[in-house]
Parts: sequence; structure tokens; C-alpha cells
Amino acid sequence: MSETKNELSEIFGFAMDASVDGIVITDNRQPDNPIVYCNSSFELLTGYNRDEIIGHNCRFLQAEDRSQEKRMVIREAIQKGEACQVDIRNYRKDGSFFWNELSISPVRNDNGDVTHFIGIQNDISRRKKAEADLIREQENLENRVSERTNELEESEAYLAGVVETIRESLLILDDELLVLSVNKHFEKSFKISEEELVGKELPKVLDGAWNIDGLIHLLKDVLPTHNPFEDFEVEHTFPFIGKRRLLLNAAQVTLKGKYQDRILLAMEDITERHRIEKQKEDFIGIASHEMKTPLTVIKGQLQLLQRSFRQEKNSKHADRIDQALSSLDKLNGLIANLLDVSQLQNGKIRFDETEFILSKLMDTAVEQTRAIADSHQIEVSGAVDTLIKGDFSRLSQVLVNLLLNAMKYSPDSARVEIHVGKVSDYIKVAITDRGVGISKENHQRIFERFFRVDDDEQVFQGAGIGLFICKQIIEAHQGTLWVESELNEGATFSFTLPVK
Ligand code: ADP
Repeated sequence: MSETKNELSEIFGFAMDASVDGIVITDNRQPDNPIVYCNSSFELLTGYNRDEIIGHNCRFLQAEDRSQEKRMVIREAIQKGEACQVDIRNYRKDGSFFWNELSISPVRNDNGDVTHFIGIQNDISRRKKAEADLIREQENLENRVSERTNELEESEAYLAGVVETIRESLLILDDELLVLSVNKHFEKSFKISEEELVGKELPKVLDGAWNIDGLIHLLKDVLPTHNPFEDFEVEHTFPFIGKRRLLLNAAQVTLKGKYQDRILLAMEDITERHRIEKQKEDFIGIASHEMKTPLTVIKGQLQLLQRSFRQEKNSKHADRIDQALSSLDKLNGLIANLLDVSQLQNGKIRFDETEFILSKLMDTAVEQTRAIADSHQIEVSGAVDTLIKGDFSRLSQVLVNLLLNAMKYSPDSARVEIHVGKVSDYIKVAITDRGVGISKENHQRIFERFFRVDDDEQVFQGAGIGLFICKQIIEAHQGTLWVESELNEGATFSFTLPVK
């Protein structure tokens, strides 16, 4: 198959028009290198039509923007008859700007003279814009990174300052419990220098001197389970400083960046505080114990006196002795409670278990309560025929305490209710009053030793130990004691006991 020359040039013409690149051909033999051919894409690219293009030099594409360096590159290549490639700023017929990626190639005749140049053009404005955006973004990013680094350096310095000033011993560990750093307070308190610890596994430091029971296990859990621990109390003998009692807290350090997987272990030395607390408790224990005997003697003597006054029908003196005896009973109650607190704390209370029907316990408790205060009607209902096992007098002490509280804190009401319910293999005893109530934030705290609600202190007398004792007694019986109440809405104190 052989096409004629004309046919071939027609096909080349179609091919050129089909190209997405703008193509121009200039005649180098003519003055000012005029354009002798342009394809349709060039028309589309520039907005000019063929008639406006043919015969012109390509420079019309630069409009007024003549001082571009890239023009020199083109001019030099044309003068030397060489190929070149430049990105040059060009303008369409409507004046709008575009970036032109221009490739120029010379066409030579048999003598080697450059007869034509072929220029291939491409609108790369979008690519240029994307490049410029990218550069701007990179600069922004670099700025942000450097700002962030500054911030981090500042906060690192700030943290280091805090860590060094704090009056608590601090240790930073990695996920293998390798010591990374300790603060000055640690060095001073434990008489170990940072160098002796850093880089070593905490459990192996100083021949295992820091291998504290339970602590290593808790520390190993901090990172995998994200489980911090608080107020873990230990007593341990350390090298150089001897036996110490510590309160330990540990948490994952959650700073971003290089400190992410670290454990911060804070240690508070409570040896001294613990010693003073113990002395105080021992004193309360001893003092209340020592007061019991003289008080029993005083009570005996007063009762004797009272009897003889009554026989002599001296009611004035007998009444005064009555008042003294009632105050003495209160004092005895307080001392018995203080003694209970101290014994409960030292684990010295013995519980004597017997089996009994709940109604017997209720009757005894109600009777004892009435002997002390008879201001309210006490109504008992529910499953009082249940057989339970426990320390009768201690459980009765709990009931009396809750009933007296119910009366004391509901002075404007006339009734207190006890209801016994069976819940699974437990009985639940609920004591309800319609008194001043307790706000939610104090529901836990009222069971703490010596805690009293501030607002009640002026109005109601008390030492803040009754509920603490009740809770200990109930828990020693494998039950729980809690309160449900709202301020000014009365209160229900409930406890459970397992049914035997
Ligand atoms: P005390 O009554 O001697 O202060 P408790 O340990 O028995 O000590 O009670 C602790 C605190 O709980 C009381 O000071 C009181 O504020 C609150 N509380 C106890 N029982 C009741 C109740 N039934 N209603 C309202 N507040 C109560």
C-alpha cells in the first residue's frame, strides 16, 4: 500500500490537530521567524484563531511581560539553532495568564541550516499552582513544626522545673521498668544518686532492694491496661534509710512525642505521719480503756447514793443524781465507741457468732433504743422471722445506732420505720426516717471515722464515729451498709446480712 505525498501530509495534518499539545512551526529563513503553522490545540490554548497567528512571531504570547529571563534562553537557543525547554509566563487573547511549558526544536535541511523551529506548548498553570501551593504548605508545615518544637521544649523545661521542685520522690520508668530519671527529692530521700539507678531495671536495682511486694506487679500493668494506681501503701526496708512507709501512685505519662510510653511513679514518705496517727490511736485506745474502770466505780457510787436518797424520799437530790447518771451513760457510750474504733482498727474485736431469729434482735434493739430516746414511734415490718447467724450484741449495737441517728436527725417527725426484706440469700434491713437527709456528695464520707456533715454540727451533737463502727461490724458479717437519701428528704440506711 502506498500513499501519495499529499495524502501523507494530510494525515500528518490530522495527527497534529489531534494532539492535545499546542504546536507551532516557525520559518527561520524569513525575517523575524514568523509562525507558518499552528494546530487547533494552539488556538484553543491561546484563544487566538489561525488567521491572527500565522505570520506573527511567537513573542505576542508574552504580551507586556517582556522582561522574563526565560525569553533570553529562547532567544539564545534560536540564535544558536539549538533545542530548549522553558516554563514561561504567557497570556491568552483575553489577557488571562497561563504558564506555558514550551519545547523548541530546530529542523535542519541537508546542508545543516536551520530552516524551521517546531514549538510544542502545554498549559501547566495548574501544575505550577499545585507546586506553589505545595511549597507554601511545606513552609507552613516547617513553621508549625518549629513552633511546636519550641512549645515542646518550653513545656519540657517547665515540666523539668516542676519535677525538680516538687517535694515528693518521682521516678520515671519505661515499659520494661527501666529507670529513666529520678528527681532531686528522690535522691535526697533515698540517699541514692541518679547514676546508680538510671538504665537499670527497678526490681534489680541494688540487689533487689526495690523489689517491693505487689508494687512491681502493679507497675507492669500500668501501660498495657492503662491502669494507674493510687495510694498503694507499703512498708519496706530500704538500704541506707531503713524501714519506711510509703504511699505510691503511678500513672502513664500521656505527653505526645517522645514521652508517650512512660510510667511516672510518685512516692510520698508517710512514715512520720503514720507514726503520729498510730500514737494518737493508741492514746485514744488506752485512755478510753483506762477511763472505763473509774467510770464504773462512779456509776456504782451514784446508784448507791440515789437509792438512799429515794429511801429518804429526798426527791430533789434523787433527781440531780438521775441527771448525773444520764450524763454518765452518754459518757460511757462515747467511751465505748472510742474503744470500739481503736479495737476495730487494730483488728482486735472478736465476734461471737450465734444463731437467732431476727425478730429477737429487733425487739432487743428497739427496747435498748427506747431506753435512751423515746421521741419516735418505731415500726417494724417484713421478714422478721428469718433465722440468721452473727454476733447478737454487735448487730443490736448497729440497729440501736441507726435508730438513734434516725431519731436524732428527724426532730420534726414522729416515726421511724424498720423493714426487713429477703433478697436472694441475704436479708436486707432498711431503717427509714423523714428527717434532714444527706446530700449525695456525703453519702460515702459519713461512714468515715470522725466525719460529720458541716451543717449538722451546730444543731446535733455527736462524735462522727457511730456509722464508721456500724459499717465495720456489718462488713465483718460479710454484709454491706449504705444510705439512700436526698437533702431534706429523709434517709434510708440499709444493710444486708447473708442468711445462713
Ligand atoms: P454522729 O451522729 O455522732 O455525728 P455518725 O457516724 O452516726 O456520727 O453519723 C455521721 C454523720 O452522718 C452525722 O454527723 C450526720 O451528719 C449524718 N447522718 C447520720 N445518720 C443520719 C440520718 N439518719 N439523717 C441525716 N443525717 C445523718
